[in-house]
This record gives sequence, C-alpha cells and structure tokens, in this order.
Amino acid sequence: MAADLRNLPGVDRLLQQAGGLIAEHGHPVVATAIRAHLAQLRAAPPDPLPQADAILEAVAQDLARAGRSGLRPILNLTGTILHTNLGRAILPEQAIAAAVDAMRAPAALEYDLASGGRGQRDDHLRGLLCELTGAEDATIVNNNAAAVLIALNTLGQGREAVVSRGELIEIGGAFRIPDIMQQAGVHLREVGTTNRTHLRDYTQAIGENTALLMKVHPSNYRIEGFTAEVPAQELAQVARQAGVALVNDLGSGSLIDLAPYGLGDEPTVARAVADGADLVTFSGDKLLGGPQAGFIVGRRDLIAQINRNPLKRALRLDKIRLAAAEVVLRLYRDPQRLAERLPTLRLLARPQDEIALQAQRLAPQVARLLGCEVRVVPCTSQPGSGALPGHTLASAGLALSPQPEALAARLRALSTPIIGRIHDGALVLDLRCLPDDAALIAALSA
Ligand SMILES: *Cc1c(COP(=O)(O)O)cnc(C)c1O
Repeated sequence: MAADLRNLPGVDRLLQQAGGLIAEHGHPVVATAIRAHLAQLRAAPPDPLPQADAILEAVAQDLARAGRSGLRPILNLTGTILHTNLGRAILPEQAIAAAVDAMRAPAALEYDLASGGRGQRDDHLRGLLCELTGAEDATIVNNNAAAVLIALNTLGQGREAVVSRGELIEIGGAFRIPDIMQQAGVHLREVGTTNRTHLRDYTQAIGENTALLMKVHPSNYRIEGFTAEVPAQELAQVARQAGVALVNDLGSGSLIDLAPYGLGDEPTVARAVADGADLVTFSGDKLLGGPQAGFIVGRRDLIAQINRNPLKRALRLDKIRLAAAEVVLRLYRDPQRLAERLPTLRLLARPQDEIALQAQRLAPQVARLLGCEVRVVPCTSQPGSGALPGHTLASAGLALSPQPEALAARLRALSTPIIGRIHDGALVLDLRCLPDDAALIAALSA
C-alpha cells in the first residue's frame, strides 16, 4: 500500500523547526530547499514516509552539497604543473598576503602618494618589468591573449601583419592566431610553409600596407625534421629596414634562464627584447608563476600607443592581481632563492628521487584508506600551458587499481577532490605537485 502523502509534514512546520539551518543559510534558501525536497518525496514516496527530523537532516545535506563551491581547492596530481583547467600557477605566500591586503583596504592604485595627484595603476609594476626584461617600458592587461589582441589592434588595425605558416597556432579555448588577428582588425598575411619559412618569405611579403611582422612561440606543439625558421634577431633587422614593428608573442616566456634547472631552452623575455623585438608579450600565470595577467614590454612609443587604446580600459588588471604580480616579480630580483620561494619553479625543479621517496612513504597509507591496490611507479610530468613544449620531467607516483575510472570518480567526489590521470589500466597520482604528505592523507580521510 502506498504511503499516505497527507502525513508528510508541511513547509511551514518544517521551517519552524529549521532555526539552525535558517541561521546558517537564510530563510529563502532553506524554504526553497525544503520545497524541493518535499517535491522529491511526493514524486517517489518512500514507505514509511520520513519524519520531520529526517527530512530536515536530508535538507541540511542538500544545502551543504549545494553550498560547496565548484572553485574549491583540489589536489592536482595530474603531473601537469601549469594545468590551465586547474588554474595554472599557484602563488607564493607573500603574493597571496599582498592580494589579501589589497582586498581588505583601499590602496593607492591610481594615486601618486608623493604628489597627491593622479597615478597610473601600471606604475607599480613598470619599473620591475623594465628592470627584469631590459625593455624601455611595459604595460599590463588581463592575460596574454589580451596582450596579443591589444598589441595587434594598436599597431595594425586595417593593415597587414606578416606571420609564418608554421606559427599560425591554436592554443586551445578558441585562441587561434588567425581569429585573434581578425578580432584585432588586422589582415593576416601568411608566409612560408608549415615546416619551413625563410627570410625572403618575409621580405617578399612586406609592402605598403604592412604594419608589423609577428613571431609566435609554437607553445603546445613542435615541428621536427626538415624545418627552418627565421631567428628573431634577423627578423628584427628586416622589420627595422622596412620601418615596420616586430611583435614577438612568447606565450609563456620566462624571466630567467631555466637551463640550470634542467628545463631546456625556453626563450627568456630579456633575450627576445635584446634580439630586437619592438614588443614582447607573455603570460603572468605560466612559467612566470604569478596571477593571471598579460605583460607587454618594449618600445616606449608603442607602449604609450597601447595605453591610449580604449581597449586598454576594458582589458586592465584589478588591484588584487596587480598586488600579487608585484610581489612575484620582486622575487625575480633574487634568482638564487627563486626556486625556494616560487612554487612553480620549485615544482618544476623537484627531483625525481625525492618524489619517489614520498610515493614509497604514502603507498601503504593510501592502500589502506582506499582499500585498493597501490603500486609506486615512475611517471613523467610536464610543465603544461604550452611552456617548454615537448619537455617532460621524470617523476614518480602511485598507480591505483583495479577499476581506475571508478577510483577516479571516487577521488573527484571528495570534499577536497583529487585529480589524477588514467594510464595503462591504472589511476596514476603523480606526486610532483603534492605539497606535503599530510595534504593527501587529509583529503583521503575526509
Ligand atoms: C598561452 C599563450 C597565449 C595565451 O595566453 P593566456 O595567458 O592564456 O591568455 C598566447 N600566445 C601563446 C603563444 C601562448 O602560448
């Protein structure tokens, strides 16, 4: 016999008993949750019907679930350090503190404390950017995509930009060089071929309507084999002779030479400036290890033009990120201690044997907590975000089995979700980005 729905407590009665929930979530939210829960019970009535206490307990759980932010912290054990979908760089504590300070109180964002007059928000970072890159001037926007957009629009609207076919890249998330050109109002003049572009390809393409030459870091792919590209230095000469600008989009870019950390040959921003680019664009939250931002450094007159572009206002950075970026840039003034202080570099440089030891320490505890098979395995991490394309880092992790898909779903459902990757029939947790053992144990025990 079906339960008699008339015995289900009403919304008003439940609200009268829901004082604690109302204090936490507010009356409207609790009332909505109660109605939704009652509707579910009416649609599929259990027998016997739950009492008021049980209903409120279920509503409390619904509210707790709905109140958990999708943006809450996770453990990135994918092995990709700068994972775009997982928020890229994590910031040094000092930068976090600066961002929090900027949130809590008014700041002299566009106010010159010396004169009491108006200041410029970019001034807080300009000196540092010039010092670290050797550039004459700098400006800051929302991200590197914005940097490329505003640079192209400012220098080339209604005119042509010459780009090698080997550099007409898509980074993902709808960032494609030809599309950005179009949005910037610039006509794309493709030259060369996918694998080989020569100096003469550029010189032959330059004409009356050419505004700029553009060089783009290939980021997430590599052309190997029978290839040729024109070095930035030679391209700069061609641009100078023709009286057009050279814009070099480094993508990630790095402010320091990463070779001493065994991290290949990512071009530095200073190198690109020294090689003669008129403008260089790069990201704040890739190898640089800061908050999301786009930096443009280069010739003073061109930076001034960019700052006058109305798009600048639409693409500018807020005080919170400016505060964090300033602290991160300051750390680069002391390269010796950078790896200790900058999480991105620390994670990139973390040696495999240290990670393997951590995996051995953690394996038995993880096996016990999850009740599955756990093996310590070597694996490879990658920088991610198109930085150091093709470069992998020897790492170590835990291979969880059987049924890796089910295990992955279980770990994603934790209150601190753990994200790994499925490889060779196991769920692999690459421990390179695990800050400390306790973080994993705490997430698994919750
Ligand atoms: C990543 C990248 C961009 C976009 O930078 P965002 O900071 O993600 O906006 C542009 N150009 C290149 C070459 C890149 O690698």
